[in-house]
Amino acid sequence: VIKGVIFDLDDTLYDTTLQVSLARRNAVKAMIAAGLDATEDEAEEALGKVVSEKGSNYQCHYDEMLSRMGAVPNPKVVAAGIVAYHETKRMHLTPYPDTMPTLLSLRDNGYRLAVVTDGLNVKQWEKLIRLGLSDLFHTVVIAGQDIQPKPSPQPFIAAANQFNLRPEECIVVGDRPDKDIAGAKRAGMASVQLVRGEHAPRKPSGKDEEPDYIIGSLPELKALLKSIR
Ligand SMILES: [Mg+2]
Repeated sequence: VIKGVIFDLDDTLYDTTLQVSLARRNAVKAMIAAGLDATEDEAEEALGKVVSEKGSNYQCHYDEMLSRMGAVPNPKVVAAGIVAYHETKRMHLTPYPDTMPTLLSLRDNGYRLAVVTDGLNVKQWEKLIRLGLSDLFHTVVIAGQDIQPKPSPQPFIAAANQFNLRPEECIVVGDRPDKDIAGAKRAGMASVQLVRGEHAPRKPSGKDEEPDYIIGSLPELKALLKSIR
């Protein structure tokens, strides 16, 4: 019997893909308005390359972007990009419409709820607080700094331990076969792939990434959990 439900955060509980693409587009628009001599597409491509090479937690995306585009260093342009990026991100940091109702209903039905997410501890907590989700979970595990990141089973096992549940009493819900599903399997937990966000087209690359169940939206979870009871 499933008693604990462990959710991924990005692209599972809110639309990270949309949020980031709008933020990048607005950042380059603001940089161009502040004096960057480039088209939006050129600037966005340069920014995208820097982010994919340096990672999303790198501190100097915009300076690096300008230098790669052969532009003169310009703190005003960099600042315009930073401001537009963060304003847009903040504005679009809202849960999917089905997130809150589903979480509340699962809680009301007695399930223990957790978030297991990879990232920087304070950054991921900041997201949860801004999303208004920080007090809805019985347990939050942020992996990547003190705990091995997904697909390590470690963060999933940590959540089960904090629930006081065995792994077979937990189910993992996430958008990424290579992280969420693979990690759940290694932890000995059932898994549900939620098909949305930029990883939606992604197919499992092998047996270890194949989910037990597939859903297209969170409300489908309720019926699913009943059916495996
Ligand atoms: Mg995700």
